Amino acid sequence: MNCPFLKETRVRSCSAAPVRMQIRNGLETMGLERCSTPAHTECVVYREHPEAAQAGECGACPHLQERLVQFCSVAPVTKFVPYSEASLSRCGDGAYEYCSLYLNFAQPGLSSVHSGDERDPVVEGIRVPRRLYYAPNHMWLDVRENGACHVGIDGLLARALKNISEITFATAKGVRRPSAALTLDGVTWPVTFPNPMLISGANLYLRRHPERLAEDPYGEGWLFEGWEAPSAKVREGLLNGAQAVAWMGQEAQRLTEFVHGCTARCEASLGPLMNDGGVAVADLAGQMQREELLRLLNEFFAPHAAWAQT
Ligand code: SF4
Ligand code: SF4
Repeated sequence: MNCPFLKETRVRSCSAAPVRMQIRNGLETMGLERCSTPAHTECVVYREHPEAAQAGECGACPHLQERLVQFCSVAPVTKFVPYSEASLSRCGDGAYEYCSLYLNFAQPGLSSVHSGDERDPVVEGIRVPRRLYYAPNHMWLDVRENGACHVGIDGLLARALKNISEITFATAKGVRRPSAALTLDGVTWPVTFPNPMLISGANLYLRRHPERLAEDPYGEGWLFEGWEAPSAKVREGLLNGAQAVAWMGQEAQRLTEFVHGCTARCEASLGPLMNDGGVAVADLAGQMQREELLRLLNEFFAPHAAWAQT
């Protein structure tokens, strides 16, 4: 399915001109354009190239070419994309749901089932989009029918690590495990997706706006994009659907118990970590001492994390 903002139009150009120029349709309606009329014989360029003397349909210039192209109707600058390229770009398949322009204009969180919305299960205030697969270190995978993949961090990790100040992408393109380093409160922590995929790019927008990783973990905060690699099972060992929802509930509970343990160890400084209901609050990391923060990261978000035993 294509992005709803991807539109199509016809563009015309002159094959005889020394520089490829687009011929605007607006002039035609004003009666000033002669390329598509018998008046093309008066054109200097046409006279310099008489070899194609056979006039086209309705007396149009034989040098006049027309092709069908697509363009983004919400981009500030219009850029035409040939049909062949559109099918390969994110505009031409389900990946458009991770385009920042699409997210800004469509606000899919309010309306789209596919992008995740208020109809998704919410566990202890953490949204668990149904379409995603979840890894034990709290990373998610979105894989579409055509094999297009996106990877990011889930709502629990985003909630715990609100204050992310820098993101470094550690994995280059190719068939690899997507890996990035998050810097927060003086600590740099690796997040690595457990299964390899064919990485085609990283979300470099996050370098300028690292806060979006935690603010919109299932949308603009995606980390890597790419394709399912024939040689690797990208979904292997991940949880989905009701299993993922149940696991997220257990993890939220485990996090709360972890914070209770911290409170017991450092009673004076960790009181604010719990809200009224005794549930761990957002930005835990920002309220923890360095040693406790490292324990939290290692316990829940380590690259080698395994599914918690229940
Ligand atoms: S009239 Fe023909 S040769 Fe002249 S600019 Fe138009 S398409 Fe090109
Ligand atoms: S650039 Fe983004 S908003 Fe525009 S058509 Fe492509 S996916 Fe849609």
